[in-house]
Amino acid sequence: MIEQITLESIKEQIRNVPDFPKPGIQFKDITTILKEPELFNYLVDTISEMYQGLNITKVVCIESRGFILGGAIASKIGAGFAPIRKPGKLPAAKFTRTYTLEYGTESVEIHKDALENGETVLLHDDLLATGGTALAGIALLNYFRPKKIYVNFLCELDFLKGREKLKSYEITSLIHL
Ligand code: AMP
Repeated sequence: MIEQITLESIKEQIRNVPDFPKPGIQFKDITTILKEPELFNYLVDTISEMYQGLNITKVVCIESRGFILGGAIASKIGAGFAPIRKPGKLPAAKFTRTYTLEYGTESVEIHKDALENGETVLLHDDLLATGGTALAGIALLNYFRPKKIYVNFLCELDFLKGREKLKSYEITSLIHL
């Protein structure tokens, strides 16, 4: 008998890796889901259905795990794809946003010609933790004066309350951890 796929069953298959990449972090490893074709497809289909029919013209994803589902979702909903990357990876003219982490700072970049003004955008990443990365991503999108920004995560670490930083945006997360 084929077991029915549910978000609950997918949640159980996310691998928790303690103390990676540094002590105290409980790393949520989604490679255990992605390697299963049925689960991969289920996630692409589920997220695509949520954003179908909203006239989204670009799916913008955050390096690097955001790219995995994001590219497939873009293709499925008939949108283009644009990457947000860590510093020094994008080859052409770009906008940069620097944000504060618990210790130190991090930056993200987007090509200056990644979007046109006035597009409807879906920002996607694999996981919402403190929200700093997503907020920096939104700041980059705002250079393009988008008509509307939707934000989607595969997973959300509820206890870190990242959602509070993103209050003024329409956020969805499939799996709450
Ligand atoms: P934050 O800016 O704190 O919301 O962190 C979100 C970014 O860091 C995402 O791109 C995630 O892929 C990554 N990340 C943060 N915490 C974790 C975690 N516990 N497990 C997996 N990825 C994480």
